[in-house]
Amino acid sequence: MGNLVKNYNRKKISFMKGKGSYLYTSKGIKYLDFVQGIAVNSLGHAHPRLIKTINNQSKKLWHVSNAFQIPEGEKLAKKLCKKTFASYVLFQNSGTEATEAAIKVARRYFYSIGKPKKNRILCIKNSFHGRTLAAIYASGSKKMTEGFGPKVTGFDHFKFGDHNSLKKKINKNTAAIMVEPIMGEGGIKVIPDWCLRGLRNLCNKKNILLILDEVQCGIGRSGDFFAFEKSRVKPDIVPIAKGIGGGFPIGAVLMNKRAASGMTAGTHGSTFGGNPLAMQIGNEVLDIISNKKFLKSVKKNSEYFHKQLRDLKNKFPGLIKEVRGRGFLIGLQLYKDQTVFINDLMKNKLLTIRAAENVVRILPPLNVKISELNQAIKILNKVCLKHK
Ligand SMILES: *Cc1c(COP(=O)(O)O)cnc(C)c1O
Repeated sequence: MGNLVKNYNRKKISFMKGKGSYLYTSKGIKYLDFVQGIAVNSLGHAHPRLIKTINNQSKKLWHVSNAFQIPEGEKLAKKLCKKTFASYVLFQNSGTEATEAAIKVARRYFYSIGKPKKNRILCIKNSFHGRTLAAIYASGSKKMTEGFGPKVTGFDHFKFGDHNSLKKKINKNTAAIMVEPIMGEGGIKVIPDWCLRGLRNLCNKKNILLILDEVQCGIGRSGDFFAFEKSRVKPDIVPIAKGIGGGFPIGAVLMNKRAASGMTAGTHGSTFGGNPLAMQIGNEVLDIISNKKFLKSVKKNSEYFHKQLRDLKNKFPGLIKEVRGRGFLIGLQLYKDQTVFINDLMKNKLLTIRAAENVVRILPPLNVKISELNQAIKILNKVCLKHK
């Protein structure tokens, strides 16, 4: 590993194989994987239908330029639009490309209607929208932007839950408000439905586009296809990524007609975005996850798991401060730094990952089995006993 840039603080472990909810080291040691590539492997490892899809498509066609029609992408876009608020889809390869493209779409719309100065994007302070230059400045995080100046301008920030600061930061040049309905990296903080509705009303009143970043909380992760659905709000632009590829890199921006109207030929592009191999995989993942029965089981199983976690919190009130999140986007907030706790879970063969605010993030695959959830609770209970 000596030649890899040291930008990650990696754990001293690697895996050779994965199956469903489990990862295996080269020595065959089995770990319950409740990281799943950070909400990426939505269907667990080595799902048979995805293996079949990738095998079949790999024999036909991997990549062609977006200079040509790509029927596999047309098909995926059609399905996504049929299921959601969207009328148009733009394919990318990652989350940060999707959020950047979302920003471009919003700015381009106002430019195209003769309001080029209406270009500022309002975001939550210390949110997460990815790691490209614009995305780190969108996050408003000191840590992520340090040393990467000059600053990318055009972003304003308000504090999570602070309605006064939100209203104060809006001005006539605000083009879009961009928030995660459930903040992932930020500590699994859910924006309440009534706040999302308030945001929508505010945007309508001030002629602002609403961008909901569903890169982490979308594609069934919350128990609904999109986390915002429960609020019955209709956003204008929604970047997605992580879960839609089931482990294959895919990003996309969903948008309504109005938002899409500025994106005329030549305004944006991506060499890899939307290639036939990626699109076939996206089609298969979407077919599995968007099935009503599937989402019902995500809701039911995750509610069961949340109940177990709440019981754990009641059993260890001095250790666990809060059980956060929805569906299988879960945060266990501790009263203390979570590093050692996460390492102890790993020693007991349960993989989890940190988020801000002392949160242990728990991300099972959406098709996790009840027996696997029970196994996780057992391990959590054991580690809580040690830490209480
Ligand atoms: C992960 C994430 C991103 C960035 O995705 P990448 O694929 O890492 O570029 C953007 N927004 C949210 C909410 C995320 O969780």
